[in-house]
Amino acid sequence: MMIDAKAIKEKALSLGAQVVGIGDIRAFDGVSPQRDPKMILPGAKCVLGFGFAVPRGLYFGMEKGTQYYGYTTLGVKYIDEEMAEIFLLKMGAFIENEGYDACLQKSIPNLRITGDKTTNPEVADTYELIHAEAVEHGKPAPDVMIDFALAAKACGIGSLGLNGRILNPQYGPFMRYCFIITDLPLKADLPLREPICDRCGDCIAACDGHAVSEKGLDTWQCAVYYKGAHESNPLMTDEFLKDDPERAAILNGEKRFDAASARKIFPQMDFLPRTQWGYAPCLCGAKCAVACFKHLKKEGRIGHEK
Ligand code: SF4
Ligand code: SF4
Repeated sequence: MMIDAKAIKEKALSLGAQVVGIGDIRAFDGVSPQRDPKMILPGAKCVLGFGFAVPRGLYFGMEKGTQYYGYTTLGVKYIDEEMAEIFLLKMGAFIENEGYDACLQKSIPNLRITGDKTTNPEVADTYELIHAEAVEHGKPAPDVMIDFALAAKACGIGSLGLNGRILNPQYGPFMRYCFIITDLPLKADLPLREPICDRCGDCIAACDGHAVSEKGLDTWQCAVYYKGAHESNPLMTDEFLKDDPERAAILNGEKRFDAASARKIFPQMDFLPRTQWGYAPCLCGAKCAVACFKHLKKEGRIGHEK
């Protein structure tokens, strides 16, 4: 008997996902070939989306100023690099044992497709695939990487917030994601039609580094302040940037950073050791996410178990 949507969801929940959604492949019609799941699996019928909750306590430890490293190791690195990978391999085997293909899509934090000039603040640095060339005319240059925010929306499990985070209808910003592109025909869920973000601006006010604005997240600005270049960083010493004439402007969040100026001070931001795979310790407290969670909860825009 062919596995159906119910069987997929039950399996995913049994393997540790808290959230599952099925997106119709037609939701990706018109996207850039560099982001198109059909370029990865031409016969794809749907994209499966899975969410893993980041425990609230990991954020609130940072908010109290008592614990920072647990968020980076457990809430970021472990979920994306271990939990999601094991989950994807098991889930993929479940699908492929039925004779269908499962193209597993985990977060690739260190790479950017050609032309994507943003960065991922959560890692030491990112590499843009500027030298990649298509293997033949009509194909996109490798690696094709799907847009996680678009995929989450198609699967009905999240939508992009002003703070650059995918907001889930239950868990708000406290969730991380992975996906599977498959040719298994399944009944799709409805995509999210209404945004969860109401553009309240609380994330703008919360960020010490002024990395969020009405235009969204400035990833290079965030990359500097996420790593702790602000006076609120409890691990800051007088030695940090002591000879830099812009020290005061940097530490109070006034300086604007771009790729070059951000990369210039990265080597000095060694307040805590990086984790495996180059994840940088979060020393800003992810205040944009905490403020967002509190706002969405207060306004009843997300529902949680309690
Ligand atoms: S804090 Fe408000 S504006 Fe910012 S992402 Fe959340 S809902 Fe949107
Ligand atoms: S609060 Fe932290 S994670 Fe959020 S935008 Fe600011 S620097 Fe980035």
